Amino acid sequence: MPDTSSYRGRFAPSPTGPLHFGSLVAALGSWLLARHANGQWLVRMEDLDPPREVAGAAAQQLAALDAFGLRSDGAVEWQSRRSDVYQIALDRLLAEGKAFACHCSRSQLAASNGVHHRCAGKAQRTNPAIRLRVPPGTTVSFEDSLQGGIAQDVGREVGDFVLKRADGLWAYQLAVVVDDAAQGMTDIVRGADLLDSTPRQILLQQALGLPTPRYLHLPLILDAGGQKLSKSSEAPAVDAGDPLPALHAAWLALGQASSAVEVSFDAASFLASAKQAFTPDRLPSVTSLSLAALHNAADANAV
Ligand code: GLU
Repeated sequence: MPDTSSYRGRFAPSPTGPLHFGSLVAALGSWLLARHANGQWLVRMEDLDPPREVAGAAAQQLAALDAFGLRSDGAVEWQSRRSDVYQIALDRLLAEGKAFACHCSRSQLAASNGVHHRCAGKAQRTNPAIRLRVPPGTTVSFEDSLQGGIAQDVGREVGDFVLKRADGLWAYQLAVVVDDAAQGMTDIVRGADLLDSTPRQILLQQALGLPTPRYLHLPLILDAGGQKLSKSSEAPAVDAGDPLPALHAAWLALGQASSAVEVSFDAASFLASAKQAFTPDRLPSVTSLSLAALHNAADANAV
């Protein structure tokens, strides 16, 4: 684990619904790792996609984090205010020939399962999407601090990927890379659903001459049906009015010892004990955990 006090980590929710248990696991996990390294922990609101946004969700998420005692060490960053910075990065990639305007239609893309290798568009679209050029044979490997070695043939599996959408919205991949670098993030801790986005982000960092941070992907929490809990699929919100049970459950999901936080009476005292007792080596190196298995483990713990 990094022992540098220059550690900077973050939690970066999209405001597509209230925080659910899976988001709390990512928020608490990233907070604990930052505190363990005597580092900074920042919150960034990834409000880039108005059609998917739920009115009031951003404020609700920030209020919930506050109730859980998870407070940003600096001002909360809002991606919706950073269009100019994304445009500068995009212009640079275009000028260097690393990105291009794509005139393919939806049906042309569907024919290659959404993987773009070569523009098939005949008609020039007025608002083309902008993609990063990913030549065949482009493979990216990295060492995830929890999941181990990961490799992806980005050329084959992903192809040229979108940086700015045809509808004018910024793609998550571009914004996250620009912001992680602009905010000096050294450590990205998030859910394992983003493991397969990481090679794309590393390629973009290289294309923009930015440093690659360390990555640690926490297990994704699955519901009883084996589906990922997600804000937009209406997973139940964590109860910010009664933060201790959810904090305790998130602590167990992070593989930590129940006894270490037993005497907590509010979120602040829970976090103080958790910070002391947190043992990174106990983090489960799996990409998913089912809620049902966690409940059983909690029951067994209580006996
Ligand atoms: N905004 C993304 C989400 O809510 C997370 C981005 C990240 O941590 O890189 O899924």
